[in-house]
Amino acid sequence: MHGLMMQQPLLVASLLTHAERHHGGQEIVSRRVEGDIHRYCYRDLAQRARKLANALAGLGINQGERVGTLAWNGYRHMELYFAVSGSGAVLHTLNPRLHVDQLAYIIDHADDRVIFFDLTFLPLIESVASRIKSPKVFVAMTDRASMPAKHDLPIMLLCYEDLIDGHRDDFSWPLLDENHASSLCYTSGTTGNPKGVLYSHRSTILHTYAAALPDSLNCSARDVILPVVPMFHVNAWGLPYIACMVGAKLVFPGPALDGKSLYELIEAEQVTLSAGVPTVWQGLLRHVAERGTTFTSMRRTIVGGAPCPTAMTTEFQERYQVDVLHAWGMTELSPVGTVCSFKAHHLSWPTPQRYAVQAKQGRGVFGIDMRIVGPDGEELSWDGQVTGDLQVRGPWVTSGYFGSEDASPLSDGWFPTGDVAKIDPDGFMQITDRSKDVIKSGGEWISSIDIENVACLHPEVASAVCIAARHPKWDERPLLLIVKKPESALGGDELLEFFDGRVAKWWKPDAVVFVDAVPLGATGKVLKNQLRDQFRDYYLTA
Ligand code: AMP
Repeated sequence: MHGLMMQQPLLVASLLTHAERHHGGQEIVSRRVEGDIHRYCYRDLAQRARKLANALAGLGINQGERVGTLAWNGYRHMELYFAVSGSGAVLHTLNPRLHVDQLAYIIDHADDRVIFFDLTFLPLIESVASRIKSPKVFVAMTDRASMPAKHDLPIMLLCYEDLIDGHRDDFSWPLLDENHASSLCYTSGTTGNPKGVLYSHRSTILHTYAAALPDSLNCSARDVILPVVPMFHVNAWGLPYIACMVGAKLVFPGPALDGKSLYELIEAEQVTLSAGVPTVWQGLLRHVAERGTTFTSMRRTIVGGAPCPTAMTTEFQERYQVDVLHAWGMTELSPVGTVCSFKAHHLSWPTPQRYAVQAKQGRGVFGIDMRIVGPDGEELSWDGQVTGDLQVRGPWVTSGYFGSEDASPLSDGWFPTGDVAKIDPDGFMQITDRSKDVIKSGGEWISSIDIENVACLHPEVASAVCIAARHPKWDERPLLLIVKKPESALGGDELLEFFDGRVAKWWKPDAVVFVDAVPLGATGKVLKNQLRDQFRDYYLTA
């Protein structure tokens, strides 16, 4: 129709083009795997991303094909974010914390054509390489001088800097359909094999707009943003895209996520806004308290991925005048769903009541529609009391999993989050429990089913149940409840040793409790809720 707005697709590359034109001189600072600090600006990022896009074409990567990354937060990873998606391929961020077998499964399932990796992960890539089906191209994200002298990879290893050096920096980002896939992230948030969540250019741009808003993550050109949340975990909560959209300075921590390293980076670069899971902030707060120092520039921190304890909110706000923004999201939600920003009337509330609000996961950002439902799917009221299964829908919520033949996860057009929540009359959602059977330790998932399966392989185990128990450092850790076979003298340590090599080290339960029997429901299913209630505080009281 005449006079309507232009039909311009929402594309990831436009974020980079915008950042180059409007914030070209804005800095991006990275602590590298090599240990030093690298700095350049959005103009350099854009130029190198175009070279990389030409290099990808040179490697024969076609639109729609997946390009894997196994990397920390850093500028080369950022270049891949834009070069891969911008040229129409799909950026597949791999989580290095997964067990090598899971990584191999994911790489094969996604059919990654090439894998870019940080040098830290060479041993991991070497183990993965022998387990994956098709031959891949591997690229070490470093320069010639730092290339490993030898390696065990079955095929040639390329050097990132050499790869892009040979290419021109004039690349025209293709005018893709905005519903074209842009990136892919697997989640182990449900049972069974990890599942891929495929983001589109459109969903990414809409999420970026919404997540940047003042009552969302509140990002601007005046910010210096430190994403501690990994770029391999739901695109670092979208912060690389947001930073381009608003023109913020970006600071990438690389592999050094301990309190001291983070604090030094925050102060040296005058970070104003940081983002990460509670476990990481614990290390940072401990370091700052031990040194008896303070934050001179940081004003806000986004805490998500796990509930933010009120003690943490209090310490950040009262001791250091750093406002806490508690947020909730999921891989399936790109990830931002709710953010806990005050409404005007909260500002005059007494302090304890305001802390009670901040303990909530927050209100839905525009674009995320949410509801809680009861056992029969009936919608429950927002009275702040009644709890139900949390469901969401919106343009950056997944409608199904990548390459999955399973039935759609949607229920009546809504995505069931697996979280149990209540919602107050102001629209603030608070998670009270989880219906999905998983454990979230330090912000990363552990499958309780996988742990139980390994335990059951032991000849002296009759039945095994793994539950999430609260933990002072990691938020949750796996606790293994075991019924032994008659006459067995199996000890806890012996059983735990059995896990070595069978699961990733950090998946190994911290303790085993031997029980005479586990409670079963009418259909013979283990009543895990009952066990969770009984043993939830095991690590807090042990
Ligand atoms: P992931 O897909 O790995 O980002 O994990 C998403 C899940 O983490 C959610 O479904 C919740 O179970 C949990 N989660 C994320 N943020 C929070 C939060 N602020 N409080 C409690 N749980 C959270």
